[in-house]
Amino acid sequence: MRSEPPAVMAMTYDLSRWRDLATCEQLAVLVDLDGTLIDFAPTPDEAVLDDRAAAVLREVVAAGIQVVVVSGRPRHAIDAMRARVPGAWWVAEHGSWRWDGTDAVPPAISAPELASLERRLGSLLGVPGTLIERKTLSLCVHWRLVAAAERAGVVAALENACDEWLEEYPGYERMAGVELLEVRQRTVHKGTVVSWVRARMPGVRLLALGDDVTDEDMFAELGDEDASIGVGPRVMRVDARAADVRGAHAFLRWLVDARRGASREFPLVPLAPPAVRTGHRFLVMSNRTPAVTQGRTREVGGLVSALEPALRDADGVWLGWSGQVREHGSRVVVDDAVQPARARFDLPATVREQFYAGFCNSVLWPLFHGFPSRVRANAQDWEAYLTANERYAGHALELTRRDATLWVHDYHLLLAARSLRARGHQGRIGLFLHIPFPAYEVLSTIPWAGELVEGMLAHDLVGFQTASSAASFLAAARTVRGAVVDGWSVRHGGRTTQVGVYAATIDPAGFRTPAEDAPEVAGLRASLGSRRLILGVDRLDYSKGIPERLAAFERLLERSPDWHGRVVFLQVSVPSRAEIPDYAELREKVEALVGRINGRFGETDWVPVRYLYRSYEHRVLAQLYRLADVALVTPLRDGMNLVAKEFVVAQDPARPGVLVLSQFAGAAETLTDALVTNPFHPEGLAADLDQALRMPEGERVHRHRMLSAALEREGDARVWARRFLDDLVPRRLHAID
Ligand code: UDP
Repeated sequence: MRSEPPAVMAMTYDLSRWRDLATCEQLAVLVDLDGTLIDFAPTPDEAVLDDRAAAVLREVVAAGIQVVVVSGRPRHAIDAMRARVPGAWWVAEHGSWRWDGTDAVPPAISAPELASLERRLGSLLGVPGTLIERKTLSLCVHWRLVAAAERAGVVAALENACDEWLEEYPGYERMAGVELLEVRQRTVHKGTVVSWVRARMPGVRLLALGDDVTDEDMFAELGDEDASIGVGPRVMRVDARAADVRGAHAFLRWLVDARRGASREFPLVPLAPPAVRTGHRFLVMSNRTPAVTQGRTREVGGLVSALEPALRDADGVWLGWSGQVREHGSRVVVDDAVQPARARFDLPATVREQFYAGFCNSVLWPLFHGFPSRVRANAQDWEAYLTANERYAGHALELTRRDATLWVHDYHLLLAARSLRARGHQGRIGLFLHIPFPAYEVLSTIPWAGELVEGMLAHDLVGFQTASSAASFLAAARTVRGAVVDGWSVRHGGRTTQVGVYAATIDPAGFRTPAEDAPEVAGLRASLGSRRLILGVDRLDYSKGIPERLAAFERLLERSPDWHGRVVFLQVSVPSRAEIPDYAELREKVEALVGRINGRFGETDWVPVRYLYRSYEHRVLAQLYRLADVALVTPLRDGMNLVAKEFVVAQDPARPGVLVLSQFAGAAETLTDALVTNPFHPEGLAADLDQALRMPEGERVHRHRMLSAALEREGDARVWARRFLDDLVPRRLHAID
């Protein structure tokens, strides 16, 4: 369901502000090119600064207003236009290249990495109609000319490939343009043009016009004395709106006349201040909000479908980081054209790095997974964690009533509730930790352990994946001064925190239906022939035990030559957190191991390990699961491991594959009929793998039946969410419905 566009104020709007701007001494107009001054054309080369647009700009210059054309176009395209509007300043490539009447200075940075993105996009760029545009610091793919029937698939595949590449190159970001996507250096955006103009014209007031998301960077840097104008419907947070390019020209002419004292009818629709709906009664908070594009592999998937009904019923909102970095200002933007509604905000680059790559993933992640030796702790990262948690809490307060129910997710936000309480939030707050909670001896190796545990007691309910995590938390709570642990609850500071176990479940529908083979699966099936398939599917994370698993496979080939040529191990490793050194090292280690095993055992017609560094959408993954004879799900430590559950659901009950499951995955608490294994012991794992490959059909069917029944008893992801919410707000119907 799409919501209405923001309310248009009655036309009694006070025009004095606009007249005041038009007649101020120092005025600059920052104007985007495509979609603002000129209409879009099928290819960028066909869209030129036409006579009409050039004439309007010359009139603006003649009225003593500084014109700055701020474009995303490549340098050469802008250079070719400059002579048409003498006196104007020009910006190409979102700010990389700038001309203020003198020759352009080349950008101080370069972007050699983009060559590898181009390679990664590879065959996608060959789809008829796609058009690639390489700029100095960005790469742009246009799809305006792709056949309509293919467009959605092509766009999803392009976005996916870019996002995987971005995992490795966090200095870049993906922008959605009009029928294009652009991957560019994060430091490059139109917002930087605002300070460049101000530095050249002290005291200047600014009028910015633009039509798409890249122009919002420019709008965000404007001050109270400036004004923004959206052209067309795409940009939301603007002071006024022009219907289209014609409307933008009409405004520029109005401006010229108003500056000269002549009056004309004001051609824009002034808008009310952007409507951020507040007063929500239910809010979900997580590091990032789920991606909107359907079918994307980075989709939080199960979590979205789990929470969607509750959010819909309670007219709730999902709050998280936007994925964008912004140095100043952190406004929350609500998108309620999607369900559930998303509220997003930007964070400064340093906070983001020290918070996310730093404290979250170089301290809490390794520590909570029981790898204290991998922890890289420092005080700045801890401060950034506190700052970020404050930000999330502050935005949650902007959006909700004081008595709203808030559901906080995961280790990124352990201290948000403390901030919320300090600022007077009175509603119920629940926390669900998706990863394990460690033994206190491990936790207390960082100096902030006590503060974290005490902060977690600001929740009314804290949920864990497993009973052992819950027990570890209760033991940790005992160490907090003044806390009284009574069974599954902790009293502290006048509040009682309930502790519970809510094993995360999946959304089985997407994994159950045997669909037609996707092309990549059909290819795999054909190439396997009669060979058995062992499958591993994980984010490339040291907690997943991928090197240990490879070592066990190597051991199997050593001790059982009869498997040579008869078995293939396919490891899908999803790129993850590549900016963190431990992850980059792991990648090298895994790739070296794969090379070693293939070099050692491979034949001209048999490659024992096939290794893929990529992700698949659920539809393809389901088919891979179904094709596999054995799934090796052998994390050294895992909060739950949804892959294990998905694999079970995807099996053909008459001819099921075997799940080899680590005893250290949360899923092992439910999936007791899997072949439960110890991933730290390669010899034992190799023996279990051998047993799995040789398991008779009767036993496979029996185990699978038991595993399916266990999952059936647990219920789907919605049941999981309902259980948590029922415990968080015992009379939920009255409280948030
Ligand atoms: N996944 C995916 N595409 C892939 C590999 C994995 O969509 O190519 C999904 C998978 O279906 C599962 C999730 O990623 O839902 C991984 O969840 P899990 O609990 O196994 O591990 P996590 O990555 O959360 O540690």
